[in-house]
Amino acid sequence: MDSMSRNTEKLIRPLVRQLHPYIPGEQPAIRNLIKLNTNENPYPPSPRVLRAVQQAVDSRLRLYPNPAADPLRQRLAKMHGCAPENILVGNGSDEVLALAVRAFVEPVPKTSRTRQTVAAPRSTVQYFHPSYSLYSVLADTHGGFRNPVPLATDFSLPSLHELRRNAVWQFNAALTLITTPHAPSGRGYSTSELERLCRAQKGVTLLDEAYVDFANEHAMDLALSLPHVLVARTFSKAYSLCFQRVGYVVGNPVLISALHKIRDSYNVNGLGQVAAVATLDDLAYYQSNFKRIRGTREQLGAELTKLGFEVLPSQTNFILARPPRFPAEQWLSSLRERKVLVRWFRQPEVSSFLRITIGTPAEAEALIKAARRILKTQ
Ligand code: PMP
Repeated sequence: MDSMSRNTEKLIRPLVRQLHPYIPGEQPAIRNLIKLNTNENPYPPSPRVLRAVQQAVDSRLRLYPNPAADPLRQRLAKMHGCAPENILVGNGSDEVLALAVRAFVEPVPKTSRTRQTVAAPRSTVQYFHPSYSLYSVLADTHGGFRNPVPLATDFSLPSLHELRRNAVWQFNAALTLITTPHAPSGRGYSTSELERLCRAQKGVTLLDEAYVDFANEHAMDLALSLPHVLVARTFSKAYSLCFQRVGYVVGNPVLISALHKIRDSYNVNGLGQVAAVATLDDLAYYQSNFKRIRGTREQLGAELTKLGFEVLPSQTNFILARPPRFPAEQWLSSLRERKVLVRWFRQPEVSSFLRITIGTPAEAEALIKAARRILKTQ
């Protein structure tokens, strides 16, 4: 870096200078690529959604959208049996997570950030490790403490007894983020075990249900019965709307109104609002897709198992599978050479696995064919 750049860099807050940003999965522009790396839905949005968006593209684009996405909140409230005051809509559930960190976690002054050795629950973002890698970035960006607590090696939740014995877990952390069903393993957690954990927590506990439509159970009732519990959902995965960036969070109106106070005035774009409302008009279309995806998931799991992969049970639209014979990172590049893109994570807990998004049956077949060829040539 030259001296001018070094001087310019001094204009940036030290915290931001040192930050390691979240790294999203690749979106490469490779023709005929079978893209199974970012858990997008292989099926398009419902024709009604496409029509609604197309019809909304006219001179109204010059107007601001509804500031709080009220028509969408009303529809969501009806669906979940609550009031619009229980709901905040975000620019994807990523924004909801960021708002929760900003609203409930006290940032730490720089001096105590480096010196701190004892737990500071008011400033702590707590989560299980591994889980969604954005959580640690949000804690860092905000200047809070991270408290990653290991899951069991099978990615099950530790029991309350184990957490009490474990000196690291904080029952009074300002914010605890729980990915359920779990990512990147796909493991489902029962509502009863989540309830036990939520009831033991004193701080805000956010259940990140990004993949819940592919699971056997959901925990929305906890957000509507326990005042410190929030449930975050997204239209991205199950509702084929990654492009539009719409997510939401449900919970006690006191917490929800705190999030409203700090969100941007027009945080959800207008076409996203239109698309999400139209989605709720055609839920049957999506439910049949969930069924198809769950079916492909079971078939793909069985085929990969035959090839020697160790496939973990999944309640999501992806599977975590340990490939045979050679390292997962090598599989990643061998598959990529055959135009099949999956995801590999460097963290030691998952580095022997590939995370594979469930695509169409044809995409699953192409993956199996590529895997067979790779096994033959090695
Ligand atoms: N939570 C989890 C566990 C995720 O994997 C993702 C997607 N990367 C999100 C939340 C955010 O999804 P979105 O912002 O698209 O709603």
